[in-house]
Amino acid sequence: MSSARVEALRKVLAEQELEGLVVTNRTNVAYLSGFRGSAGALIITADQQLVVTDFRYFTQVAQQAPDFELVKAEQGQHRETLIATLKDLNLARLGFEAQAVTVDEHNAWTEEIPANTLIPTTGLVEELRQIKEEAELTAIRAAVELADQAFAHILSYLRPGVTERDLAIETEYFLKRAGAEAAAFPPIVASGPNGALPHATVSERAIQPGDLVVFDLGAMKDGYCSDLTRTVCLGKADAMQQEVYALVYRAQVAALEAACPGRTGPEVDAVARNLIAEAGYEEAFGHGLGHGVGLEVHEAPRLSSTSEDTLKAGMVVTVEPGIYLPQWGGVRIEDLVLVTEEGREVLTQAAKPSILLEV
Ligand code: ZN
Ligand code: ZN
Repeated sequence: MSSARVEALRKVLAEQELEGLVVTNRTNVAYLSGFRGSAGALIITADQQLVVTDFRYFTQVAQQAPDFELVKAEQGQHRETLIATLKDLNLARLGFEAQAVTVDEHNAWTEEIPANTLIPTTGLVEELRQIKEEAELTAIRAAVELADQAFAHILSYLRPGVTERDLAIETEYFLKRAGAEAAAFPPIVASGPNGALPHATVSERAIQPGDLVVFDLGAMKDGYCSDLTRTVCLGKADAMQQEVYALVYRAQVAALEAACPGRTGPEVDAVARNLIAEAGYEEAFGHGLGHGVGLEVHEAPRLSSTSEDTLKAGMVVTVEPGIYLPQWGGVRIEDLVLVTEEGREVLTQAAKPSILLEV
């Protein structure tokens, strides 16, 4: 499995006229090799694939990355061993991941390796990761199902006086009990005015009747993430809450319909954004429409007005418009979608009523 990924990367390297790539982004290390240790780098050339790591991981590399040749580093000597290995390879154009190498590391490398042979690259492996294989989709579907179950479960806990923190803890506990490795990210429970913060941190605020509550949660299963948002009202909703919810719902459903192969990130984003703007809430939707999900909960591609990505079959993205009004609160609705040859398959199964759910 991993060797097909390495071959795909080798094609990209050849196109870029690179003789090799040092992979230090940990997620990319796991994607290419299967090795999931917390310390280690890959070196991939046209005919070699090496993993540099220390004693703690020798057995793990043999198990998880059998296709890779192990370069043994002494404890605490990662950097030196990596540099010595790169120096031995003596490549004229060696790519490195510009977003995953510190200035300090780069300085150390260039003491031993000519700086002009080190070529910064961005997103080479991330681009490969955008198109999911069947096995990856199986893991994502399982992560989606866990999130769907957790949302259904947490609704039964929602009552006056329960705090955001209580609900977030119960969500995480449920996810793990139900079989998730972990929550994909700390669950967001944003009630009342806190809902105006798209990425609110969970507080001790007790939920009160009439509050909108935004739940944003995801599971991690077999290394893959899911991402789900629903907004409900505790008790009776007022007219404005209903109106804003209905608008976000309409924008979300329209954007889902627009998510198909060949459409660009800005095009799909605009479908939701225009509907929200026409209703006078343009300023209140201050984030992009969606993002890719896979080994990371936020990854390429992006659906936003500035995105340069185009949807292709096999991509998994969120569609999550929202409206956020300071002091008042917020509404967001988020589904996870697989782009298919024919259009899209909405993976999320959590109930999504067209009118605001009063719990
Ligand atoms: Zn989310
Ligand atoms: Zn999201």
